[in-house]
Amino acid sequence: MKIIMLGAPGAGKGTQAKRIAAKYGIPHISTGDIFRANLKNETELGKKAKEYMDQGLLVPDELTLELVMDRFAQDDCKNGYVLDGFPRTIPQAEALTKALADKQDAVDFAINVDVPDEAIVSRMSGRRACLNCGGTYHVEFNPTKTEGICDACGGKLVLREDDKPETVLKRLNVYHEQTQPLIDYYSEQGILKEVDGTLDMEDVFGAIITILEA
Ligand code: ADP
Ligand code: ADP
Ligand code: ZN
Repeated sequence: MKIIMLGAPGAGKGTQAKRIAAKYGIPHISTGDIFRANLKNETELGKKAKEYMDQGLLVPDELTLELVMDRFAQDDCKNGYVLDGFPRTIPQAEALTKALADKQDAVDFAINVDVPDEAIVSRMSGRRACLNCGGTYHVEFNPTKTEGICDACGGKLVLREDDKPETVLKRLNVYHEQTQPLIDYYSEQGILKEVDGTLDMEDVFGAIITILEA
């Protein structure tokens, strides 16, 4: 099963993608997590990506595609995957469609987690991220057992630099301009599914499972 998670920054794509991945035994591929891991390890890719990420801009398609195509070639992807944060532009979506079509393959579902802009800024300011394992929490909606410490790995949690309100507003603009058009793109392909991302996490997950198992 090949699934794409669509939605604004902070809509809950990562939260749901992790659960889908665990339930179906497929990898969760987050381009944001891959970029952050490269940043942390100070790779060439990480250095290039950082310039864009810090400003709330998208990393150029060419760089992103190189990274994702490498990831798809790995062995664990043969039974599918859940993509979180990719594709984020029409050229990225077209490249994915083509790469799969070359192998007589296609994405099964594009799930749009719908959350209005008003709800995003407050959600992001409460997000806490573990840069060690990619774990994501929320101070109010999904707190850790010990404040500031990742439940999964014991790593220290941070407020991501790009989750500060000024950058979130910029990312929302980028989302509307460059990523939202993917909703129509996948609607035209007949694989778009919508879920209400303002529900609580459990209910959003329930709605997704209903779609995947329909
Ligand atoms: P969010 O939690 O907002 O969905 P991510 O963790 O997915 O954020 O992405 C963080 C940043 O990484 C983005 O603002 C962007 O700079 C970069 N990024 C992640 N995925 C992509 C992509 N597919 N194309 C371009 N840039 C990306
Ligand atoms: P995305 O990957 O789309 O950027 P995340 O999954 O990281 O979004 O979620 C953003 C923040 O909102 C996190 O702090 C997360 O714990 C919290 N969150 C996710 N889903 C919900 C929800 N349904 N209700 C309230 N908070 C949520
Ligand atoms: Zn962790």
